[in-house]
Amino acid sequence: MHEGSKKIYLATPPMIWSIGVRALEFRNLCWNGFLLRVPWEARLVREGGNAKTGSMRIEAESYFFEVKWEEVQPKKIKPLSEVVSAFIEKLEKESKRKIPFRAKRQANVFNHDALFMSVKTDVEERVYFWYCEESLRVMTILFAFRSLNPASRTIMKQVLDSIRCHGEETNLWTVLETEFEVPSSFLLTERKLMVGRTHLLFLEQKFSPFTQRRREILFDYFSMANVQFESYLKDLNKWVEKWYLKDLKKRYRGMKFEVPAEEKISTHIALIKKGRGRGGFTTRKFALYTNVTWYCEDLNRIYSVTTSEHVARPLGAKLRIDEETFEDFSKEFISKVKCH
Ligand SMILES: [Zn+2]
Ligand SMILES: [Zn+2]
Repeated sequence: MHEGSKKIYLATPPMIWSIGVRALEFRNLCWNGFLLRVPWEARLVREGGNAKTGSMRIEAESYFFEVKWEEVQPKKIKPLSEVVSAFIEKLEKESKRKIPFRAKRQANVFNHDALFMSVKTDVEERVYFWYCEESLRVMTILFAFRSLNPASRTIMKQVLDSIRCHGEETNLWTVLETEFEVPSSFLLTERKLMVGRTHLLFLEQKFSPFTQRRREILFDYFSMANVQFESYLKDLNKWVEKWYLKDLKKRYRGMKFEVPAEEKISTHIALIKKGRGRGGFTTRKFALYTNVTWYCEDLNRIYSVTTSEHVARPLGAKLRIDEETFEDFSKEFISKVKCH
């Protein structure tokens, strides 16, 4: 995953830490309601779940760290010491032996009281546990280093000092150099992170007695565009029709687009396609779509982002989507995408 990525600096230069002759540079990694700064060389290699319950593993050559979170309702909070015991039990069960842990002491992560523990397995492990009462999640972050030295201590300190586990109405997401904001009511429900293509779907659902309403943000980009789609880069409408529309129509049945328009998105000219869809027999369905497609020369990628709103009601009931609100939502989302 993420191979072949170029090291490209974001608009804000990464913080530089000098350790002797070695310099460690950090960048933002934002995923499922977490913001942390990780070394440039570290990559998100595995992730799962959503903002409520999930995990991610970030890895470099000589270390990795794992963040896990689990939703807990305030009434069901257990003391952290119980969370730690369960953690050790699981570790011992997995490795089928007793795990010696050394220190267990109080710590602090992003103003939350935390418990810290050091464990000696084949590697040096440092684990932090805390409960975030703002996002109602129990958090665990585990660092594993081959050996502890000033550089590994700096990495740990920088990651811990930078962690933001709650706070905003929108969650920042980063996929390598690309950054965008998704309202925190949306959950990541689909992902494919492959060489050549990155695909993420965010979903917000609202139910009321007779109506189902949902909004989606479908975020796709295709890498190495000048190799994959050379003759299509000058005509994005052709690209959409040849390479993308089929996928989109499979997902959104009954979708029809109007005549496309062009608009400037950051430094790129983007193709905007607006559409709507109707359908259903026993349940009536109506949807609005905005698809924005552009070619980013800087990273040699084609981005195609589709926002949509869907409403379904039983036959005979009126269907309505506030088009202006939907348009504002789409515009707001697109305006915050930083592709390179
Ligand atoms: Zn928090
Ligand atoms: Zn760009």
